[in-house]
Amino acid sequence: MSLTVYRRKRDFAQTPEPRGRARKSAARLSFVIQRHAATRLHYDFRLELDGVLKSWAVPKEPKAVVGDKRLAVHVEDHPLEYGRFHGVIPEGHYGAGRVEIWDRGWWEPVGDPHADYRKGSLKFVLHGRRLRGGWALVRMRRRGDDPRDRGKENWLLIKERDTARAAPARSVAPARTRAR
Ligand code: MN
Repeated sequence: MSLTVYRRKRDFAQTPEPRGRARKSAARLSFVIQRHAATRLHYDFRLELDGVLKSWAVPKEPKAVVGDKRLAVHVEDHPLEYGRFHGVIPEGHYGAGRVEIWDRGWWEPVGDPHADYRKGSLKFVLHGRRLRGGWALVRMRRRGDDPRDRGKENWLLIKERDTARAAPARSVAPARTRAR
């Protein structure tokens, strides 16, 4: 996956953000949500896939309420190292403002994440501190072929019902002692 767009937008001599490089993904796929106080406050939602962070900018704080939908604007891939980034992007630079890590953890795709990402319908389970359980990211149908919409697809981040598999990790019952 390419970090070309990510790098083109930034001057790494001036911003504390990492230049990064595409890597092999670990067995567990990471996710991160960064609260980004740029010109407009938003939440950068990032899922590791194919050695980069697939990224969406969510203008409103995500809520773990079933059926809750948030606009999620698809943006360029970010390097995996970005998942640890927090700090201040200097004035006059792309995305100027404070970046804080709002949530992080790992995610489990439900189904084939490559095919589903291309299709624009990803279902997954989040294992974070704030966000857990079943979620979906669904691409909205484009209204026209306006070239200005290119590369800025609107998706929806949706809180799904938690299946047994997606149950929050903290409600695990204590292990029973075996009789034999
Ligand atoms: Mn951002």
